[in-house]
Amino acid sequence: MKAKKENFSEWYTEVLQESGLSDYTKVSGCIVFRPYSFAIWEKLVAEVDKRFKKIGIKNCYFPLLIPKNLLEKEVEHFKGFAPEVAWVTKTGGSDLDEHLAIRPTSEVIMYDSYAKWIRSHRDLPLRLNQWVNVVRWEFKHPTPFLRTREFLFNEGHTVFATKKEAEAESKQILDIYQDVQENYLALPGIRGKKSDKEKFAGAEYSLTFEHILPDKKAIQGPDFHHDGQNFSKMFKIQFLDQNEKMQFAYQNTFAITTRQIGIMVATHGDDKGLVLPPKIAPTQVIIIPIYDNKSKKQVLAKAKEMQEFLSDFRVEIDNREGYTPGWKFHDAELKGIPLRVEIGPRDLANKTVVLARRDTGEKKEIKLNKLGKEVPAKLDAIQKNLFDKAKKFLDESIHEANNMDALKIILNTEKGFVRAGWCGSRACEDDVKDKTGAKITNMPFGLKAKGKCVDCGKPAKFVAHFAKSY
Ligand SMILES: [Zn+2]
Repeated sequence: MKAKKENFSEWYTEVLQESGLSDYTKVSGCIVFRPYSFAIWEKLVAEVDKRFKKIGIKNCYFPLLIPKNLLEKEVEHFKGFAPEVAWVTKTGGSDLDEHLAIRPTSEVIMYDSYAKWIRSHRDLPLRLNQWVNVVRWEFKHPTPFLRTREFLFNEGHTVFATKKEAEAESKQILDIYQDVQENYLALPGIRGKKSDKEKFAGAEYSLTFEHILPDKKAIQGPDFHHDGQNFSKMFKIQFLDQNEKMQFAYQNTFAITTRQIGIMVATHGDDKGLVLPPKIAPTQVIIIPIYDNKSKKQVLAKAKEMQEFLSDFRVEIDNREGYTPGWKFHDAELKGIPLRVEIGPRDLANKTVVLARRDTGEKKEIKLNKLGKEVPAKLDAIQKNLFDKAKKFLDESIHEANNMDALKIILNTEKGFVRAGWCGSRACEDDVKDKTGAKITNMPFGLKAKGKCVDCGKPAKFVAHFAKSY
């Protein structure tokens, strides 16, 4: 396998192929999620979905195909997606009278229904979500998980009577995303607000998580958009309030996508393969029995007994015939299985097993009767170590600049995020992009503007992160 440090992008595509997470197809930019990556996605979906339901969000399903006239109804929104829309123009041999878009996102088809369903303040809030695929025919270089033409995501579309209620939802949703990312994927992110230029097409503002990849380029994670009344006015999503007055509703949308799998792989993997955080790993513990003909029966019986004993965890036994234990160790490392348990005839006699951590490579012999204590302790330690390492890397990838020269130097040497003052003008944002190729990833929450705009030198209104990004 390629060295991750020296050639990140080749390492990345190689690790996905070799570990069996994904594969290419005959359709450019569209990948297969093989069972190993789909299991990770299912786990992520289950955790996010459970939390959505707890706060009152319900799941639904809207059609894949969107009539052209509907998609063109909200101009700003349509302009944002038009170049990437794939169209169905024929059925069998005959042309369709009205072309149908394969959903790039579902605002318009959902809001057309919302307008029919919402009549009174008693119909609100309406908080729906769907877990679906979308197609965005991007022309940038496709990369499995990180940028694919078809991907999977959650699409939350909620409607409220007041702006205050709608905006209050942002914290609920971002907290859910952060919880699952940090505690399952072991991925830290920078939470903040997009600039107007970079916000979602049709939104009033967008809030995002921004991540860093090992090549020090930024990549956007989950997002939340407050749409104000932009869509409700266009789609006539109106209701009679308590005073019998007609009002336009306030709306939000939010998403987490299969891109997170790619960010997780890129962040934690090493030159031996994947390194999966225990809480998201399809297999948390792999038992590798080591035996000869004489000890086979006993060793396998003990392995089975351990698997049953550890039934609170996702435990597999690698009892495949025709492979050496050494080959199985490598395979378990390639697949990033967090914890390996080795058991052989000598261990049987001594009532011991060997535990090997995937993240640090540390090997330790323990007494068999300590297994029930050691396994959860090690899994917790691995989970924490992966997050801490990723957090340290993220923190170390944030630099400060007070002027354009400093900003340029950092972007060409250290790379990563450059934290700088910004006056808020589009002209300065464009100018930085022209001069350096960096965009504003977001404006992190909790930072107070001070000093000058990195571009024009006027007083800064915001603290922005500038970065080259995916
Ligand atoms: Zn400026």
